[in-house]
Amino acid sequence: MKVLKFGGTSVGSAERMHALVDLVVNMEAKIVVLSAMSGTTNALVEIADKLYSKDTAQANELISKLEEKYVVEVKRLYKTEAALQKGLNLIRYHFDYLRAFTLDMFTANEEKAVLAQGELLSTAMFHYYLSEINVESVLLPALNFMRIDENDEPDLEYIERHITEELNKYPGTSLFITQGYICRNSFGEIDNLKRGGSDYTASLIGAAIYAPEVQIWTDIDGMHNNDPRVVDKTHPIHELTFDEAAELAYFGAKILHPTCILPAQKRNIPVKLLNTMQPEAKGTTISDKASGSGIKAVAAKDGITAINIKSGRMLLAHGFLRSVFEIFERYKTPIDMITTSEVAVSLTIDNSKYLQEICKELEEFSDVTVDQNQTIICIVGDFGSETKGCALKVLEAMKTIPIRMISYGGSPFNVSLLVKGELKKASLVALNKGLFNY
Ligand code: ASP
Ligand code: MG
Repeated sequence: MKVLKFGGTSVGSAERMHALVDLVVNMEAKIVVLSAMSGTTNALVEIADKLYSKDTAQANELISKLEEKYVVEVKRLYKTEAALQKGLNLIRYHFDYLRAFTLDMFTANEEKAVLAQGELLSTAMFHYYLSEINVESVLLPALNFMRIDENDEPDLEYIERHITEELNKYPGTSLFITQGYICRNSFGEIDNLKRGGSDYTASLIGAAIYAPEVQIWTDIDGMHNNDPRVVDKTHPIHELTFDEAAELAYFGAKILHPTCILPAQKRNIPVKLLNTMQPEAKGTTISDKASGSGIKAVAAKDGITAINIKSGRMLLAHGFLRSVFEIFERYKTPIDMITTSEVAVSLTIDNSKYLQEICKELEEFSDVTVDQNQTIICIVGDFGSETKGCALKVLEAMKTIPIRMISYGGSPFNVSLLVKGELKKASLVALNKGLFNY
């Protein structure tokens, strides 16, 4: 059974839900994972913020505003009176549930329950629509099988066991609908896989059922060689390996959530990125197959902080890097890029929440300088130790742009450069010209 995931825009209106039917209804058995209608999760975050700050009037107003939007869509979604009533009842149920939170204390657990309403709504609305047009489908409650453990990591064994149990209840069914993003935590409470997590859901389900393929449907024809929002000309890349796609997704290719790759890679399940507006287009296939040589793509990640740590104690000393890394570990701050010299190390972080604390501890044994608003440019391609000339091409393309850090050799398929944030566009344009002749 294949797994197909559709994001917020694909279910963003009654029309889009109508159009979705053509993509999901055919002979093939499948599990369809849906996000919340676009804008919904953001609205729910805002509602939760108001509930936290005990701004009951504002919370109620936002809830009613969102409800009105749903009433409009539901009226356009269904044709028959019976289906419309069912849809309106569904909405009333979920919005009354939201309103109930305005009545007393608001807790972190309740926030998760609030955030879960978007996916619960979109999947039920779509399921009811299918039943209105006589297409048989089963609504699988993700809360019965999606689970994260004490470390907030998905518990694949649990998911596998429980989704199999759920699926076995409906032999002969070929169309299942389920919620992306939402799950339960190790206490059994409602939780989620973090923003954008529906891709992760699809990949986890794919891994759990050993699906032949996971399809992520969006509004672009796959992963592109460069950021289409920044440069004029780009092309889709038809094939990527899991490792290449993970680098691109992490370093800025917005089309796919970076966490999505790992479960699929673990069980070697190809992930296809396809376009709802152009379903016949080839899109991008991510698999374990090596996919040609040369340089394939560049992506950029903004808002990076670079930290330079210089210390005489580093010279010929062992354990220096460990003492540096321990500090970042204590503040649960992941490091992205690292370059070293004999007396200094430069590294980058994406999350600068504990920057001050980290620097203070580093300063106990080194001189620290910090550069904020940097951008990592990630270039993915064939940079294995046997290949010649690829690094030259990158540096040649970048010859007029100052580079703060270069990370080469960490993996055979990626080179990362760090530039000032204001040089991001110039860098992507220069690389597009130098590497892809655009
Ligand atoms: N609805 C969730 C979000 O907006 C999850 C997703 O769309 O992937 O973050
Ligand atoms: Mg998304």
